[in-house]
Amino acid sequence: MSLTRTTCPYCGVGCGVLAGADGTIKGDPDHPANYGRLCSKGAALGETIDLEGRLLHPKVHGKTADWDSALDLVAQKFSAAIAEHGPDSVAFYASGQLLTEDYYVANKLMKGFIGSANIDTNSRLCMASSVAGHKRAFGTDTVPGTYEDLEEADLIVLVGSNLAWCHPVLYQRIAAAKDKRPKMRIINVDPRHTATTDIADMHLQIAPDGDSALFNGLLAHLVEAQVVDEAFVAQHVNGMAEAVAAARATDTADTGLSGQDLAAFYALWSSTERVVTVYSQGVNQSACGTDKVNAILNCHLATGRIGKPGMGPFSVTGQPNAMGGREVGGLANMLANHLELGNADHRDAVQDFWESPTICTQPGLKAVDLFEACANGQIKALWVMSTNPAVSLPDADGVAAAIANVPFVVTSDIMERTDTNDLAHVLLPAVGWGEKNGTVTNSERRVSRQRAFLPAPGAARPDWRIISDVAARMGFGDAFAYDTPADVFAEYVALDAAVSKFPRDLDLSIFADADYAALIPTQWPRDGRRFFADGAFYHPDGKARMVAVTPPILSQPRFLLNTGRNRDQWHTMTRTGKSPRLGPHLAEPYVEIHPADAAALGAGPGALLRVQSSFGRAILRALITPRVAEGHLFAPMHWTRQRTTLGAVNAVTAPVTDPVSGQPALKSTPAEAEIFHAKWYGYLASRSAPQPQTPYSAVSRTQTGWQAEVAGSRLPSDWEAEARALCGGVAGDACLQTDRATGTARVAFVEDGVITALFFAAHQPVVLSRNATVGLIGTQTPPLAALAGHAASDQPDAGPIVCACFNVGRNTLLAAAAKGANSVAALGEVTCAGTNCGSCKPELTALLAGAALPMAAE
Ligand code: SF4
Repeated sequence: MSLTRTTCPYCGVGCGVLAGADGTIKGDPDHPANYGRLCSKGAALGETIDLEGRLLHPKVHGKTADWDSALDLVAQKFSAAIAEHGPDSVAFYASGQLLTEDYYVANKLMKGFIGSANIDTNSRLCMASSVAGHKRAFGTDTVPGTYEDLEEADLIVLVGSNLAWCHPVLYQRIAAAKDKRPKMRIINVDPRHTATTDIADMHLQIAPDGDSALFNGLLAHLVEAQVVDEAFVAQHVNGMAEAVAAARATDTADTGLSGQDLAAFYALWSSTERVVTVYSQGVNQSACGTDKVNAILNCHLATGRIGKPGMGPFSVTGQPNAMGGREVGGLANMLANHLELGNADHRDAVQDFWESPTICTQPGLKAVDLFEACANGQIKALWVMSTNPAVSLPDADGVAAAIANVPFVVTSDIMERTDTNDLAHVLLPAVGWGEKNGTVTNSERRVSRQRAFLPAPGAARPDWRIISDVAARMGFGDAFAYDTPADVFAEYVALDAAVSKFPRDLDLSIFADADYAALIPTQWPRDGRRFFADGAFYHPDGKARMVAVTPPILSQPRFLLNTGRNRDQWHTMTRTGKSPRLGPHLAEPYVEIHPADAAALGAGPGALLRVQSSFGRAILRALITPRVAEGHLFAPMHWTRQRTTLGAVNAVTAPVTDPVSGQPALKSTPAEAEIFHAKWYGYLASRSAPQPQTPYSAVSRTQTGWQAEVAGSRLPSDWEAEARALCGGVAGDACLQTDRATGTARVAFVEDGVITALFFAAHQPVVLSRNATVGLIGTQTPPLAALAGHAASDQPDAGPIVCACFNVGRNTLLAAAAKGANSVAALGEVTCAGTNCGSCKPELTALLAGAALPMAAE
């Protein structure tokens, strides 16, 4: 089987992948991002490329249509809205999943031909505050760091970044570097104890949004300790005095940290020349995210610790092509190729190059504002590309209602059913990872090819082509007459050359003569030039700016809800949710809550909590753990209305945004929590897809089919009928056990002697081995034995899955540890856990330390 050299479609690390049509997936040993490594998500890509659930043909009002009629309708609706209500009556909402070529074409159509800047993307939710902070400090949106800097640093400060789960291969590179150089120090700044904390020498469990106070305090300390690089600042930096004055006025008690911890952090930072400060969503997703970014950048600028090996600020991006989207200008406040929308010369140059009839002159609607404009009737036609805003935006129920309020909604997607697609009038089938060709840019500015190794299924088409086809039908055919993505890339590079007279960081000249088909992963700018090594920045005077930051006034509501990601899922699970290997790791929507808070609510293990704000509510499994501080809740953002009843946590989050960047504050919503008192709780494993209608439900894939956690408000009168319906209308004979005294019901369904579904219900959260139960599906185990709820005596129960690659459960690992496997390496030797992708190594470390993350329901 020949393997195709391509790039992982998940996080911003941008790992190289060797992929085969038979589902073979290997890390690319030659890719400079990962040198052959893959995390659990990347390693399981082969399980996500099937056609189950795929959108294979255009759909118009729910009916299959041909491409011509669907595209004609989209073009006609957009053109009619523009003609009647003006260009700002239409909008595109795009995605960091799009390839650079797709992004370029969408941006060109909206800004140069429709004449509006109403194109924003889910990258607004990810790193818009970093973009805004970079532009304030450097004059451009420049990420100056490289992955090698992380390996060469003597001190890495990870701020609001659970790298172990969200950028796992980068985490593994850091872990390997620390193994080689044990003197390397790692500090983790995070309100939560996460998997990343386990590698840190120091955990600063900071108050939410206390980061500005922390780095302001550091800046004041750097001045006092005379660590400031006076010559660098004098020559290359403005704004020092104002920034220091604001820093000195800051009360570091707002960090929530002890004086001892602050002193230790400040002493280590100031005494270590080679320091990299890594930050991501914990900094960006905040009502003061841009200020936080600048508070960090101030410290690097004041010390001149920027632009040199092993030092500098480093914003890591969440999405595979967030950086590519920034480069082509695919956000509502950008133009193209790092040019300024507010600069008339820039606009003229782009319009000349595009030979376009118009060019937008004002910033468009940023994500949250865009959906508010949908709600208030301003937007008459909306096109959502490769993303799922009805579940990923804050106030998700409000966003779903806003989308439903738009007279014409089109989506281009690879899946047929998503929370957003369910609201659209037209669905356009896009090719997915493995079927498409183009480029992506990772967090260190490295452009890599995604290459197709599978044929386009059904009638699916590349996004750049779908957008170009609509553009042609709107009368702009000449400007969108691309035959291949290579044509689009060549034009994008040519635009860069055409505007080279404007001082910018973006420099694509290294791609001018590139062989697109054979393009190897390539970092811009050319010749490995380091940004800011020469002290040259991009403000008109060539200097950087330090920004005076005033930390926010913090309040502590009863609970503050933080949201984030799980190790083994990606965004709204449309792809990773297909993988049986990934499904069992944290298989239901949960909320981490401190033991003292759980006790105050009366919530024990397995309890369900109703978490709510003034925007909406979610019902989530309580995961009781001291890894969150008292008064804090944490819930992952992956679950949707497709897989749960009320598991979409963004129904609760508030549409509060940073005033500079427009990025939503997804990590700090004031919330309430209370026990959801179900009349009964259930668990089922089934060959067929469950279809629960209960007030609480969460469905996930398993190695033998499906599983679901359920809970109901009314006791069923007929447990067999209830179980049959919940298990997706399973056929076959039923073996039923009920016990009125304990309120338990157990049902096994058998066809031709084979167990096809098992259902367990009780008045309390069901305690049984999920792993063992899943393993009984498809076997000829006698029904009564299958209903015992635990593994057979000759088949030890592995327990909840920790290592997704080798399906190694916690009980297996604990047994191995009890027999003397007392290191991660020894556990790997005995059980194989952690020896493939290595993503579970932090959990193995925690397990050995007796601090394993408890599972919600076991
Ligand atoms: Fe993909 Fe994992 Fe690499 Fe991220 S770290 S690009 S998810 S393999």
